[in-house]
Amino acid sequence: MHCPFCSADDTKVIDSRLVAEGGQVRRRRECLSCKERFTTYEMAELLMPRVIKSDNNREPFNEDKLRAGLLRALEKRPVSTEQIEAALSHIKHALQAAGEREVPSRVVGEQVMEQLRQLDEVAYVRFASVYRSFQDLNEFRAELDKLESNGRAAK
Ligand SMILES: [Zn+2]
Repeated sequence: MHCPFCSADDTKVIDSRLVAEGGQVRRRRECLSCKERFTTYEMAELLMPRVIKSDNNREPFNEDKLRAGLLRALEKRPVSTEQIEAALSHIKHALQAAGEREVPSRVVGEQVMEQLRQLDEVAYVRFASVYRSFQDLNEFRAELDKLESNGRAAK
C-alpha cells in the first residue's frame, strides 16, 4: 500500500502479528522512500445482508433492533444477558453464513423464533404471536396447548 507520509508506492512489511485473539493481523510497515514507519490492521469483513421488508423496501440489517425485539420477548423471563447475546451472534452468524446480499425479513424472523424456542418457550410464543401474526387462531391455540402440555409434563 501507499505510504501515508510521502505517498510512495513501495512500502514493506517489517513485522506481522495476530492480535484481537487472532481476529486481526497487525502489520508494521516501512516506506522504502522516506523510511517512515506505520501500522495497518487487517480483518475479515463480514457483511450483514440487507433486509427485504414485506413491503419490498430494503433496509440495512439492524442489530440493535434485533436485540430490542429479543429483549421485549424475554422481558421478565429467566434468561441471562449472556444467553441473549449468544442467541444474537448465532442469528448473525447464520445470516452471514448464508452468503446472500439480501434476505427477506421473514428469514430473520424465523431465525429469531428458532433461538427463542430454545431459550424460553413463553418468549417464543410472545414473539411468534406478534411477528408471525398467526394467520388463523387455531394455529395459535395449538402452540399454546403444546406449551401447556409440556408444562404439565415437566411437573
Ligand atoms: Zn514514505
